[in-house]
Order: sequence, then C-alpha cells, then structure tokens
Amino acid sequence: MICYNCKGNGFLRFKWEGEESIEQCKVCNSSGETKENLHYQQYWDDGAGSPSFYYGPPLDVEGDKGFKNYKIYPIKSRYNGSQG
Ligand SMILES: [Zn+2]
Repeated sequence: MICYNCKGNGFLRFKWEGEESIEQCKVCNSSGETKENLHYQQYWDDGAGSPSFYYGPPLDVEGDKGFKNYKIYPIKSRYNGSQG
C-alpha cells in the first residue's frame, strides 16, 4: 500500500522560512510503501473533535471523508538496544 505519510515518495519535504529540507520517511523506511502484514499506530478524527486511535495494518483512507487529520506513525522497534 502507498505510504500515506510520504505519499509514496519515500521522503518528506518541509518548508521553513523559505528553506526547503528533505527528511527520509520513517513510516515506510523510505520505501514509499507500507506493509500490510505489519502493524502501525494510526490516528484520525471525525472532524467534530472525536479522536480515534488504531493499531493494526495500514488503513486505506485515501478519499475517505470519515478520516480527518489521518496520521500514521513509524513502527517503533522494542528491541533497538538500551535506548528503549
Ligand atoms: Zn513513507
């Protein structure tokens, strides 16, 4: 599935005070795709202040008006050393 966070680009563009910076996408590890067999932390609301949280395979929210402010977060490894 196309990564919602970077729209399949594998990276994100930020504009800040006229300067553009590029950051690699951590949600898909710059691959541009989310994996449907992995679980991601996701968030959206209904536009009326009612937030929803979901942990599971990436949802297909493109063009779905029920998902406002949809966000998908990078998978956090629990086994990445002493940093936790
Ligand atoms: Zn991505």
